[in-house]
Amino acid sequence: MRRSILPIVADIHFDYRLALMALDAKVHKLRLNPGNIHNKDGVREVVKRAKEQGTPIRIGVNHGSIGDRQPGDIRDEAQRMVDLALSEIRILEDLDFDNIVVSVKAFEVPVMIAAYRRLAKAVPYPLHLGVTEAGTALSGSIRSAAGMSVLLYEGIGDTIRVSLSEDPVVEVKAAFDLLKSLGLRDQGLTLVACPSCGRADIDLIPLAKVAEERLRALPVPMKVAVMGCEVNGPGEAKDADVGIAGGVGKGAIFRKGKVVGTYPENQLMDALMAEIDKILIENGKEPYSEKAPKLSHEGQLTPGRSVPAGQRT
Ligand code: SF4
Repeated sequence: MRRSILPIVADIHFDYRLALMALDAKVHKLRLNPGNIHNKDGVREVVKRAKEQGTPIRIGVNHGSIGDRQPGDIRDEAQRMVDLALSEIRILEDLDFDNIVVSVKAFEVPVMIAAYRRLAKAVPYPLHLGVTEAGTALSGSIRSAAGMSVLLYEGIGDTIRVSLSEDPVVEVKAAFDLLKSLGLRDQGLTLVACPSCGRADIDLIPLAKVAEERLRALPVPMKVAVMGCEVNGPGEAKDADVGIAGGVGKGAIFRKGKVVGTYPENQLMDALMAEIDKILIENGKEPYSEKAPKLSHEGQLTPGRSVPAGQRT
């Protein structure tokens, strides 16, 4: 635990002794609903210890676990979650504990948005946002972004989790991209890539993927563009610090919309890396290209795949 460079959250259910062990191990946060620990003295002990150590406790209500609706209960699903969260919060407040974080996650985006909005009005505590069981990388990221971006844009939410049926690294990337899209983070690579169209002179999709992979560890904020044609690319991406615009068998490197060099297609990526190094050095930073991640799929960027203008369909 102490060796982790990242904060550790212990997710504890039912057994207060596990919570005490986690506190002994100096976790950074407990995720624990006191209502599901059926030992009042145990809860008191955990809360007392968390207070002494300054460890926050997150109350986590998930829509899937709020139980069946009782006959005559006319509350909507969002309110049922909020009320359960409030009752859990009250247990901690009654023990004079207020180092609280709360989440009310649901799979259904409108339910989750309504629940967080109401909770934000009802309590002063930080909120941890999430859409539960959101799905696989693409659909889950979109679902998570659909829910969380509405709330974050309204100023609701202090921490986030993108839950995907995927490698957790992808979850972190998706969360980071979400924050960057909303202008809430300004770190590392922001990739601008055109969708390509009839004007595209280069095999754009693999090129954009290679650029993303090689530049994902950029240590400073930088907007990098990968555009399909020289005619419109530099202009359409004039906000980008640096970029590639494809030509037939070659391509241009541009900075802030201005072309600074032309290279054969198979040298374009290296030329982009060299230009990025130049920008970093000009700004008193270390060059990056030597440290850039190597490609996981060599040959993604196949030289000579661009389609000569006369043969494009
Ligand atoms: S930059 Fe060129 S290829 Fe890309 S969408 Fe614009 S016009 Fe099409």
